[in-house]
Amino acid sequence: MKDNKKQKIIKPCKCGSTEHSRTSNKKCKLNKPRKVLKDKIIDSTEKTSVTKVGFNTFLAEPALGSIIEDAVKRMTSITFEATRLVNLYVIYLLNNNLPIPSLNYNSFMRLPFQAVLQSSIHIPNIPKNTTNNTLNFVRDNLYSPLRPAKTEGN
Ligand SMILES: [Zn+2]
Repeated sequence: MKDNKKQKIIKPCKCGSTEHSRTSNKKCKLNKPRKVLKDKIIDSTEKTSVTKVGFNTFLAEPALGSIIEDAVKRMTSITFEATRLVNLYVIYLLNNNLPIPSLNYNSFMRLPFQAVLQSSIHIPNIPKNTTNNTLNFVRDNLYSPLRPAKTEGN
């Protein structure tokens, strides 16, 4: 059992070596020194370093783990739904020869993120209406019917 670590199979690197698996390894012949970002102001008193830490090690309070995981899951699902709603919305506009708005965040992209939320946590399954009636229409009549039935409670 103690030998498990030694026997671990290393995924071969792009360079062909099986001694390491990433070109970020110093021994790799494809290893390049990290590029310093051009825009970064070099300040000799400041040094940035990155340390990889597992999520559970990183948490000062283990009880926060499930709360953070839940929040991440919700954010991921909001992003997933919102971006697909935008796809369908743009297709709808194109099919109907309607002008496509500028899709920047302040003028438009915040709306689909609102549109996939509930209007109130107290009344489930009632989506939040946005100021864009076409977007609300696409969500209610084209997007929602295509969504799979809910399997998990939420
Ligand atoms: Zn390599």
